[in-house]
Amino acid sequence: MKNLSLFAALAAFAIASPVAAEDDATSQNPITDRATLESDVRTLADDAMEGREAGTPGYDMAADFVANRFHSLGLQPGGDDGTWFQNFSLVRHSAADDAGLSIVGADGARMKAIYGHDFVGGGLASAGDADGRGRVNAEMVFVGYGLDMPELGHDSFAGVDLQGKVAVWVFDMPEGMDPLLAMHMQQAGADRFAAQGAVGSILLWTPELSLLVNWTRGRNFFGRTSSTTWVGPDGVAHDGAGDMEFQLVASPEMSRQIMAGQAFDMDAIALAQANEMASMPSFEMGARARVSYANQREPLLDTSNVIAIQPGTDPAFADQYVVVSAHLDHVGVEPGHGEDNDRLFNGAMDNASGVATMMEMARLIAAEPTRRPVMFVALGAEEMGLLGSSYHAANPGLTDGHLAVNVNVDMPILTWPFSDVVAFGADRSNIFPQVSAAVGEYDLKLVPDPNPDEGFFFRSDQYSYVQAGIPAVYVDLGFGNGGEAAQEDFLGAHYHQPSDEAFRIDYEQLGRFADIAYLVARNVGNMDDRPAWLAGDFFGDTFGGPVVGQD
Ligand SMILES: [Zn+2]
Repeated sequence: MKNLSLFAALAAFAIASPVAAEDDATSQNPITDRATLESDVRTLADDAMEGREAGTPGYDMAADFVANRFHSLGLQPGGDDGTWFQNFSLVRHSAADDAGLSIVGADGARMKAIYGHDFVGGGLASAGDADGRGRVNAEMVFVGYGLDMPELGHDSFAGVDLQGKVAVWVFDMPEGMDPLLAMHMQQAGADRFAAQGAVGSILLWTPELSLLVNWTRGRNFFGRTSSTTWVGPDGVAHDGAGDMEFQLVASPEMSRQIMAGQAFDMDAIALAQANEMASMPSFEMGARARVSYANQREPLLDTSNVIAIQPGTDPAFADQYVVVSAHLDHVGVEPGHGEDNDRLFNGAMDNASGVATMMEMARLIAAEPTRRPVMFVALGAEEMGLLGSSYHAANPGLTDGHLAVNVNVDMPILTWPFSDVVAFGADRSNIFPQVSAAVGEYDLKLVPDPNPDEGFFFRSDQYSYVQAGIPAVYVDLGFGNGGEAAQEDFLGAHYHQPSDEAFRIDYEQLGRFADIAYLVARNVGNMDDRPAWLAGDFFGDTFGGPVVGQD
């Protein structure tokens, strides 16, 4: 390397103020192989892979590349029927707009609602007969905010029985609620009612909700319920909502009518909501909902996860699999922009970098196995809504154990000499000391999520495992040493753009990141205790799984 001129060196010194962290960091001995990481990213992000979109030949080519690597590392296949591939199908589900709703009041009076005017919504993806059609005639139960958070003063399901009934509810979030939990509660919904045995739900459009979103916009949003989901080995489309069949949203006028004559009517609801979410009673309404729906489900595409297994060394932990995951898919090609206009989304940072990291982790762990077995998974269809991980968490394909903990890597932004590390989710379980020790071993700082409003914890595959009750960590980088500006720049200019290309990555930084990710997985694979949620953790309480101190 050529020497810097004196002026250039002085200028560099003046600009790069916190040099200490950088010096410390680069003094570490490399663990992962930088050249392999770079060549793997360049291969996966090559135009030949056509942006690795689920269901395309480009994705399948990338999947073959990963499978070949797993094979050459001497790992065992962990896919279907002794292969490297776990195949699954995706369907597009839409709730056709000929859903019907009528309410039969306690006095026997019947009120018929008109789709699009009085209500929108429809059947959930798994609901209905083979043609997607179904009918429900069930009692209605008012459950207020529909929250099971007694610690925040909302225990909406206490004292009422929702089994086989329809939950009538109001959307709101307690003030000062942890933004991460609020985001989860907003994304969830159906599964809270499903857990209580409800068959359907009707959301009331309250005056408070109208202040946030007017009904016209709400109707358009909820009226176009189309989603993509996977089909299980049993042929049933996945919606994560158990026996719930439908979700409806009532107009402001319809909401008022539904609650008319009830002891706690729309005026009482509005007053409670306006008064900092004052508590609401939950009660049987004495009324019934008659609902019909007609789902449409169209086959969309077939894709795969690529899975390999490295057995562990300690028979006592043989059934506790560590899942090391990185999504392999990206968003493909956008056609029709002329010859010179590159609309091919190479996805170098997102997430060729993560897959390259995962393959280096596999090489190192194959060479020096941990006490626990490790499953390495290149996940499909992440960009379509975490679908490959959701499928894998529900269908791990293990006959001799279970998924015990997840270490996920997705789109580390590798453009500057980072000085700190974020371990999303690690502080929720007993893996935290292991993660912290790994980062400390590298002489770097572990810092809390600097950007909780972005909700990164919910936006990558670890969340699928968390929803299956599996403690998880998503390893990423912090804001130190210029990281905030560097991350903002990438997210603003290159994230999900054709310009997310291999040349943008600083491969020494990818190497440092991969070293740390490896140390995290190694420590978790070797830890003495069974991975478990901390007692009282929200996700442990919500999704189940082992809890520290409980057997
Ligand atoms: Zn992405």
